[in-house]
Order: sequence, then C-alpha cells, then structure tokens
Amino acid sequence: MDLQEFRTGLDAWLDEHEPELAAGFGPEVSFDAEMAHLSKVKRMTFDAGWMRWGWPERVGGLGGSTLMRAYLGEALAARDMIEPGIYSMTEVLAPTMIGFARPELAAEMVPRLLRGDETWCQGFSEPSTGSNLGSLACRARRDGDAWRVSGQKVWTSLAQYAHRCVLLTRTGPPESGSRGITALFVDMDSPGITVRPIRALHGRDEFCEVFFDDVRVPDDRRLGEVDGGWAIAMDLLPYERSTSLWHRSAYLRQRLGHLLASAPEGALDPAELGEVVQMAFAFHARSRATQHRMARGERLGPETSIDKVLLATTEQAVFDLVAGAVPAAVALGGDADGDRWRTGFLYSRAATIYGGSAEIQRDIIARRLLDLGDGR
Ligand SMILES: Cc1cc2nc3c(=O)[nH]c(=O)nc-3n(C[C@H](O)[C@H](O)[C@H](O)COP(=O)(O)OP(=O)(O)OC[C@H]3O[C@@H](n4cnc5c(N)ncnc54)[C@H](O)[C@@H]3O)c2cc1C
Repeated sequence: MDLQEFRTGLDAWLDEHEPELAAGFGPEVSFDAEMAHLSKVKRMTFDAGWMRWGWPERVGGLGGSTLMRAYLGEALAARDMIEPGIYSMTEVLAPTMIGFARPELAAEMVPRLLRGDETWCQGFSEPSTGSNLGSLACRARRDGDAWRVSGQKVWTSLAQYAHRCVLLTRTGPPESGSRGITALFVDMDSPGITVRPIRALHGRDEFCEVFFDDVRVPDDRRLGEVDGGWAIAMDLLPYERSTSLWHRSAYLRQRLGHLLASAPEGALDPAELGEVVQMAFAFHARSRATQHRMARGERLGPETSIDKVLLATTEQAVFDLVAGAVPAAVALGGDADGDRWRTGFLYSRAATIYGGSAEIQRDIIARRLLDLGDGR
C-alpha cells in the first residue's frame, strides 16, 4: 500500500468509526478512562490493520513507510480521538525496543504495545538524576543468569498502568558514568516493585515514583550490551524529542483552529495570533522534515533537540494566547471546553521539561550542532 492509498483508506475508515473512536473530555473524564480509551483506539486500529502499517513485519507490522504510522497519529489527534501525550509512548519506546531487544523478545512484545494490550513506561530519571542522566544510581548486580535491581526512579509516566519498563540501571562502579549503564526490559508485576503515582499540575496522576527492591530480571531481558545502556538512551531520546511529538503538531493546530472559532469577539490580538500561527507552522515543517528523514532510514541524533525546542516554544505560545483570549476558562476550567483549555495550558508548562529540559536542548544545539565549544 502506498501513502496516498493509506491516507484515503484510513480517512474513510475513521469517518465510519467516528462515534466509537471519539475521546471524551471534561472534568468528569478520569485518567483511567483516558487510558482505557487509548487502549480501545489502539486495538481497533490494530485489528483493522491501520496501526500495523509502517512497522516491520518481524514485530507484527505490515511493513511500508514509517510515514503511514505518522499519518495515523496525525489523523487521530486532529480528530480528537486520542490525547497526544499518552499516545506518544509507543513512538518513544517501540523503535529502540526493535533496534536493541533480542529479535524473539521484540517479536513477542511489540505487537502487544501496538495493539494496546499493554502499556510500557520509561525508567530513566531518578531523584538526583535528570539532566545529568549519566550519573544514575539505580543498581543492577549480576546473579547467575539474571540481574537484581535495587533503587528508585521518578517522573515515570504511566508506570501505574505499565506492564513493562525500559529501565536504565547502574552496572559499573558509581564513577563509571555513561560507560557503566545497562538497559533492562522489566516486567512491572515482578516481586519487589512498588509504584506510587504523583499528581501533576494539570490534575492527572500522569507520572509516578517507582521503587525496586531486589527485583529479579532475567538476563535475556537485557537490551543491548552489558554496560552499553548509554547507546540505548542515545537511540531513544531522539525519538522522544522529535518523531513522537509529530502528532502534537496536529493537536496544536486543532487547538488553534478551535480557539479561532470559539474565542469571544475581539479577544485575540491579530499580531500575536499571527506570530503563534507562524510558530505552529515552523514546528510542523521541522517535524515533517524529521519524519521524512526517518522514513528514508536516516539515523536521528542531536539535531532532534531543535524539534524539541520548537515544540516546547510553540506549545507554550499557543496556550499563552489561549490564556489571554479565554482567561476565565484557563483559571477556573468549567465545562468540557473550559476544562480542556485549563488542562492544556497547565500541561504546556511541562513541555520545557519532559524529554530533556529546554536549557539542556539549547546546550546540545550549541555544543554539538553549532560547535560553540565548552568555553575553554
Ligand atoms: C510530564 C513529564 C513526564 C516525564 N516522564 C518521564 C518518564 O516517563 N521517564 C523518565 O525517566 N523521566 C520522565 N520525566 C522526567 C524528565 O526527563 C526530567 O524532569 C528532565 O530530564 C529534567 O530533569 P530533572 O527534573 O531532574 O531536573 P534537573 O536536571 O535537576 O534540572 C533542573 C533545572 O536545572 C537546569 N539544568 C540542569 N543542568 C543544567 C546544565 N548543565 N546547564 C543548564 N541548565 C541546567 C534544567 O534545565 C532545569 O531547568 C518527565 C518529566 C515530566 C515533566
């Protein structure tokens, strides 16, 4: 199937299934309900084939260009059928899993994620390790044909729903930095794991603290080499900073369209609006170019920090505009529409933090892309 056929076929199918796929919004829609809806959308699109296009056949996909799965995310976001944040985890985690897991493990697990039968989480950050990821301390020690993991992760999105975790552990000595890290694919129902949800600013328990107390993980769940986990992090972070954010562009343009249609007369300053629309299209153009690079098989790297900066800047500008145009909704919420403006505004504040903070992205751009050196 080519991309044009895919788009035409998918659009027709989505038209037909609109009532079943439409997401609910408003203060009465719980996060549990959002997660259940996401699983339903993934299951329906997988069973109808759409979710399988653009993924390799060896992991349950139907092959074809990755642009097909990009279009699926874009169409679902533009039609308000998914919440883009929770949808993005598949695009963050599955590509690296396919690249680094044993082929049999990837073949067994990835279809479960694509179909929405399972949720996965990403265990990178720790209480004293965020930007300085190479200093992480959650320890894994060798125990025969397994590892024993003890330590803590934090800000682990969706951990309370997750069946598996892509976990970075310290296997070298504490001072080994990025050279002593090993990545494991951990079953979240293993004895010794405790998950405590954390309430985020927008009122959802989106992320968690996760505690590991002597958790046994078989060595055949290792991703990549022993002490080679940094390569997994460096492979995964570019997806988290670029391709997984593509459908956020559709969401932001959808939100801007809705604001234009519903803002009170005279509430929008045309110059400010023009600037925000320009930013939204610049982010879209950059993100589109990155999708095409991935589709050509190019390896994504530090240049994806540009995508992340553009997304964060645009998302906050869109919701600053919203706050000026409908201030009561942003301050108080209210009905489904008002609640969505409010939660959207509050969540936009996290855009300069998740996936690596704005300062760290600018640092990567300065040092690695612009060769501005280290000040020595
Ligand atoms: C909504 C959300 C979801 C998340 N989901 C996950 C997840 O699923 N899994 C996961 O592992 N993590 C997750 N995170 C954590 C996220 O990756 C970290 O918060 C982020 O990397 C920043 O790390 P930190 O919070 O430890 O802040 P710190 O690293 O302590 O940074 C604090 C401040 O100092 C600045 N700073 C730090 N170092 C430098 C430097 N060298 N130069 C200039 N400025 C610097 C930072 O920019 C920031 O402003 C999530 C975060 C959010 C907000």
